[in-house]
Parts: sequence; structure tokens; C-alpha cells
Amino acid sequence: MISAQEALERLREGNRRFVSGVRSLDTLVGQTQRNELVAAGQRPFAVILGCSDSRVPVEIVFDQGFGDLFVIRVAGNIVAASQIGSVEFAAEQFGTRLVVVLGHTRCGAVQTTLEELQRPTENQSRNLRSIVDRIRPAVERLLATQLRGDLEALARQAVRANVRASANSLRHGSEVLEQLIQNQGLIVVGAEYSLETGAVDFFDGVPAIGQ
Ligand SMILES: [Zn+2]
Repeated sequence: MISAQEALERLREGNRRFVSGVRSLDTLVGQTQRNELVAAGQRPFAVILGCSDSRVPVEIVFDQGFGDLFVIRVAGNIVAASQIGSVEFAAEQFGTRLVVVLGHTRCGAVQTTLEELQRPTENQSRNLRSIVDRIRPAVERLLATQLRGDLEALARQAVRANVRASANSLRHGSEVLEQLIQNQGLIVVGAEYSLETGAVDFFDGVPAIGQ
């Protein structure tokens, strides 16, 4: 089993390769081993809850291949019961110990929520509303601060607030995950992918080195 700390280091290294434009030979070789994974089964070393945004393809930005990452993608990287269940499944079935909530700059779902809070629309679809309603609590309080006057800063802070909220929902969303965190070394960290630079900043819940 790969520890959360080691998994985090792998992701950091992979993202550094991606940013510098150097693809790993291991990843390329890994893609030719697609058939082996069928019989051997998967052992993904990290679970990533990312946004559906087409500009944030998770395996590519972390330079990983087949069988490496257990990826859940949903607009706004929100946490509902099915996301919690997916994380539980990976952690219990495969022993995966690192969970990353991966938000990104200029997230449309977060932007839509901010606009909705400032100018509510009458006829928003119930389904879209279910996403907005999960982002709303995290970003609503930002509108009560001075950020209200600076829309760019507001958007930036809102993305991070939404990542923190999702990470917290996973940490406290189920007894199974709480037990794994307390007793089995599972950690949930929050990160932001920059559309501008390609770099991922792990900014929430990262344990100090040596722990
Ligand atoms: Zn997004």
C-alpha cells in the first residue's frame, strides 16, 4: 500500500513533469500495460475529486497513466452522497490513502453560483440548482466581506472556499471515512489547478513533512 504522503509526492512530481512539458517514460510504458490491469486488478494510489471542466483532464495534469488514479469528476467538484460513496469504495477496496479535492481557477460552476447569489434567476433547472446549492454555503459568506467590491479576487477566493468545503465534507461526511482518517492514515487534501500556469497548488490539509 502506498502511504498518503508518498502518493502526494508522486502527484507533485507528476504535475512538475506536466508543467515542464516532460512526459514520464513510466507513464508511457504504463499505457501499454492496459491489458495487464484487466487480470491483475487496479491499485490506484490516489483518489481525485475534480471538476468536469474540459480544461482540467486529471491524468494528464498529473502525468499519470492507466490504473494510477481513481477519478471522480462532477461540475464544481461538489460532494454529494455518490461522491462520498465513491471515495469509500476506493479506500476500502484498493487501500487508497490519499484523497485530493481538485478545484481550478475560473471554475464555471463557482462563477455561476456567485452570479446566482447576486442576481437570482427564476427558472434555473432543478438539476443545475442541486449543484449551485452545494457550492452556495462556502461562497455566500465571501459576499458579506470587502471582496464583494473586487470581482476577480472574489472569484479566486470562492474557488478555494469551495475546495475547502468539499474537503471538509469528505472528512466528516461518513463514519467510514472518519475511521479511515483516524486509524488508517487516510488524508483528504484540497488543491487548486491553475488554468494559467498548469501548476497544482496543494493548499488545504497537507500534513507537515515528517508526520
Ligand atoms: Zn470547474
